[in-house]
Amino acid sequence: MTGIEVSPTIQVIAALTASALYIATYLSFVRLLRYPRNWHMPSLPACLATGGLAALTVALVSLSPNGIHGIDTPALVISAGFIAILFYIIAAPAIAFRPASRHIEFLARHGDTAGLWLLGPALVAGLAIPNIKLQAVLGIAMAIELARVLRQRWADRRRRLYPLNDRDQSVLETQAKGNLAAFRRRHGIRELVLSNGAASWSGCGKGTSPCPFNLYVNRLGLNTAPCCRQHMKDLSHFIAAALREMRVVHWLEGGTLLGAVREKGALLDWEDDVDISILLDGAMTWDRLAAGLTERGARDGYYVDPFEKKGFISISFDPPQPWPFRWERNRFRGEIRTDIAIYRQAVSHGERVLERRSHKGAMPATESGGYGVPRKIILPTSTLPFLDGVFACPNQPEAYLNLLYGDFRKVEYTYVDSGPAKARARIDTGGDPLVR
Ligand SMILES: [Zn+2]
Repeated sequence: MTGIEVSPTIQVIAALTASALYIATYLSFVRLLRYPRNWHMPSLPACLATGGLAALTVALVSLSPNGIHGIDTPALVISAGFIAILFYIIAAPAIAFRPASRHIEFLARHGDTAGLWLLGPALVAGLAIPNIKLQAVLGIAMAIELARVLRQRWADRRRRLYPLNDRDQSVLETQAKGNLAAFRRRHGIRELVLSNGAASWSGCGKGTSPCPFNLYVNRLGLNTAPCCRQHMKDLSHFIAAALREMRVVHWLEGGTLLGAVREKGALLDWEDDVDISILLDGAMTWDRLAAGLTERGARDGYYVDPFEKKGFISISFDPPQPWPFRWERNRFRGEIRTDIAIYRQAVSHGERVLERRSHKGAMPATESGGYGVPRKIILPTSTLPFLDGVFACPNQPEAYLNLLYGDFRKVEYTYVDSGPAKARARIDTGGDPLVR
């Protein structure tokens, strides 16, 4: 000791301040995860803000206990390392929305409890280094992880069983090469319930954790789970009704339109999101659209997340959670959602087009650097039967699909990894239904 004693009150205040800084860093970080979940990079200012909060937390922790005798190096190393590792674990499920490295995939698969793996190391570090600020940060971080796991376990009691139809079952058995139990174990498919040789699905619902179907559908080549299909249907009807009520010109987009046309009004078997596009025109501004959808989402239990700079609005089946749990949803793997892409009127190469900012399929580039479809292919919109209802679609849906996908009648598994895609192609083309 250096001879200058620090009063217990000051130590407690410093510990509480360090805890508060950690909570702010954590919330700021999980808020950032909305970007990778939507396949975008977060903005630089947002990254800097989170990084700055983390640096402040570490700096406060590593100021030596009496504040004037330099740096507590062990506390500096432990707090910086601990936050870096924990945040890496926390980010894994959001990063794995795209194909990711093996260890990210591994962490993503265990994302619901992986944060608690640091409980042991945190205890050891807290006991070994007598720094009350470090102990406070380690303690609050683990308390947040534990509370999240317990809350989720509680919510998941609301999952209910869904039967698998013949087609789902056949695809499942093909991908599992006939051994469902081993397949379930190898990939950690907790939703798959096997009893007396029959398979069913412990389905997601409002408030439960979502089925991680980007793993099941895109990586393992399974059909979209029956619960998720039902929720996609509900979400599609909610959005179409909201847009009709707001008198917004809209149409089914991409794979969703493909399902409506090719699968005669059903979702694609491996659908992982619903695409609806809208025309922002005349009196309908971005702000009015975002406010109108957010208000209806809050009323009917859907989470609306507008990305103005990126030109789309993400609407999730999840109910909006109260602060501070609002952003923790970004830690889940998989999400039932609709991406509403925004189009505007434009002229490109002398032709009137409807133009969007992000690319979609093989949609041609426009003069101004966006992507566009000739106006007459979309407007005036027409309708198609879809999901037991009637939905707005482009005026010439087949021409629209040709523009996006070329020969859209030919089945292609664009979003499914190549191995599982090959296996399911055999049953989709009427081959051997069970590859053993
Ligand atoms: Zn589900």
